[in-house]
Amino acid sequence: MRQEVFELPSTAKIEFRQIKLAEENLLAAAMKERRVTIDSVISEILSACAVGVVDAGPYDFLSVGNKPRWESMARADRFQAMVDLRCISYKDGHVFEADLRCPAMTCGHRFGWEIDLKTDLLRVPMPEESVAAVRDGRPFEVTIDNRVVKFTMALGKTEQTYNALLEQHEDRDMACALRSRIVEVEGLRPHEIMDWLDGGKGDKFEGLTSEDAEELREAFDLVEGGIDTALEAKCPRCKEYFDFDLPFSGMLLPGSGIAKRRRQARRRQEGKSSPLEDSTPTT
Ligand SMILES: [Zn+2]
Repeated sequence: MRQEVFELPSTAKIEFRQIKLAEENLLAAAMKERRVTIDSVISEILSACAVGVVDAGPYDFLSVGNKPRWESMARADRFQAMVDLRCISYKDGHVFEADLRCPAMTCGHRFGWEIDLKTDLLRVPMPEESVAAVRDGRPFEVTIDNRVVKFTMALGKTEQTYNALLEQHEDRDMACALRSRIVEVEGLRPHEIMDWLDGGKGDKFEGLTSEDAEELREAFDLVEGGIDTALEAKCPRCKEYFDFDLPFSGMLLPGSGIAKRRRQARRRQEGKSSPLEDSTPTT
């Protein structure tokens, strides 16, 4: 059984053990049944595999030797722990294959794209000011539309907050996503914040311009660290480059090897081996 200490973007250090088959079952069942969210199963697996906190970093609610509390920790920590757990859990775990579809209108080709999780990803530590703010329990601040907006880091529980908001405010996806990070807006009551963001149905608020919303999103992104999930792939058919996000689901399961199987099938068809492996990043 492999064990390893992971240093997370927030500087917290946690010791992990490999994933066991029982946890793999849990995830496979969740993906099939869709009864529980993949998100909550991932947290469960990360907690099961965490041997204990080695260094609490900026989190005063963690104690050495105990389990991490993902819901209150930065989402960036959780994501990186998930990627690193995959790497130590499986044979060639650092190779992850994303199933992509070329976005070019005239193409739409589906293919597997291999990512080396150890070398292809940009890992950014959380900015020092953010680590200090988390340590002091201070929210972050930005001025938007002449009001000071106080907000938190994206936390493990932010996703749940967002889902709960979306249930209440159907068709207001953008506002819910922003609202899930906001603690307070200067001069507004909590129930007014949604309408301040997108105008709502009443005429009290005009709603933010897209430019203001973009500025708010940028302020949110600036305080984060962790793995940069924006990646680039090249379509093997039309040779176009396009951007995609490192997928979340499937990360804790062994590789499905779609690309490998397709390559092998194609080779069998062609009756020879191709010198170019089209689904391997060339850089
Ligand atoms: Zn294409």
